[in-house]
Amino acid sequence: MSHHSISAAAQLSTNLRLRDQGTASNFAFAILMLPSLPIADDDILTTKPTSLAAVSADQGPREPRRHLLNIAFDDLKAWIVEQGEKPFRAGQVLKWVYQRRAGSFAEMSDLPQGLRERLDENFVLFACEIAKHQSSQDGTEKFLLRLADGGEVECVLLREDDRRSICVSSQVGCAMGCVFCASGLDGVERNLTRGEIVEQMLRLQHLLPREERLSHIVMMGMGEPLANLTRVLGALDAAKSPDGFGISPRRVTISTVGLPAAIDRLASHKVPYNLAVSLHAPNDMLRDKLVPVNRKIGLNEVMGAADRYFEASGRRLTFEYVLLGDENDSQTCAEQLARLMRGRPVMLNVIPYNPVAGLPYKTPSTASIRRFREVLERNGVNVNFRVRKGGEIDAACGQLRRNRQLIGITKK
Ligand code: SAH
Repeated sequence: MSHHSISAAAQLSTNLRLRDQGTASNFAFAILMLPSLPIADDDILTTKPTSLAAVSADQGPREPRRHLLNIAFDDLKAWIVEQGEKPFRAGQVLKWVYQRRAGSFAEMSDLPQGLRERLDENFVLFACEIAKHQSSQDGTEKFLLRLADGGEVECVLLREDDRRSICVSSQVGCAMGCVFCASGLDGVERNLTRGEIVEQMLRLQHLLPREERLSHIVMMGMGEPLANLTRVLGALDAAKSPDGFGISPRRVTISTVGLPAAIDRLASHKVPYNLAVSLHAPNDMLRDKLVPVNRKIGLNEVMGAADRYFEASGRRLTFEYVLLGDENDSQTCAEQLARLMRGRPVMLNVIPYNPVAGLPYKTPSTASIRRFREVLERNGVNVNFRVRKGGEIDAACGQLRRNRQLIGITKK
């Protein structure tokens, strides 16, 4: 199982290294069927389950403390002032959390003892448990995090040269229904909170030695970030703030199946994050089949929204195309795709499929990959082409959680 899930990250790592924007793909996995999205309970945590049985039978008594990472910086400041403390204490707390990498309030040694105690009475710093931690030889590390309610998400740290990139999840499961993806096989459970998204970032940062910093973030883990946009943007605010991780929006990529209204909302947010659109098919007939949510949207709308995002942000667009053997890898598909890309300021990432256990899709043959690539290059498309590195390169976000469910390690 272990080689299984890390290696897509390794492939992603190769992808990232060869790219000039911090974009990548090959992560996460999508869906099936879409129940309506339950609204996440932002602040209140349930207590950690003491046994797996407790998870399904009973959520247990409510943990009254709030997840500190769910609190916007200004609100934390307000709370601290309410406690009769000076506002600058909030800055100290943030510094401890984001820069000094504290694991508890007790460690925050330059805060008054009373404030440390009150923080501890009212907040938890970390709300998730590390259910699994995997490392690969190339420096890629991956966490399976267990959330307070027993849900699980994956996140990954990639090391390449001086880059320290992380791939972060936005939902437990996914509702978009992409037929080839592991993340959404059981639909979506819920949105992650702002704090749960930030906690992934912090947990991965804690893996780095003091002198190293996170440099790039890709929202390409489990889930559809644009279906949880408010919380994703809240988490990315913490990422870009100088009081947070201080990562430039230009080093942050939000990957989406292509939800036009949410893309427009992201554009109106006016922070120049990179947008990656998961295309996977160059015409509606095929896209309706591979990316079922397309039936309600249509390629024209997706491309229109992407164009508007470029207009608003000035950021070159990225398109992702997972190449599935005998599904979307024909010469005709390549020609249509080239036409779709023509005249647009794009980077196209073509990623050979990482097989998911139990799904009928396969990685294309080397010959078919070569042919696909030739058509795109002949047509002058700005394309990144990844060739699968081999059997050990396998799996991605969504598969670790999936494997555990299949063999019954987790709740069920
Ligand atoms: N929901 C968002 C972000 C998560 S998926 C989106 O659709 O973009 C991140 C990328 O990984 C997407 O392009 C997705 O299609 C791709 N992906 C999913 N399963 C994959 C697999 N088995 N092999 C390769 N890429 C996959």
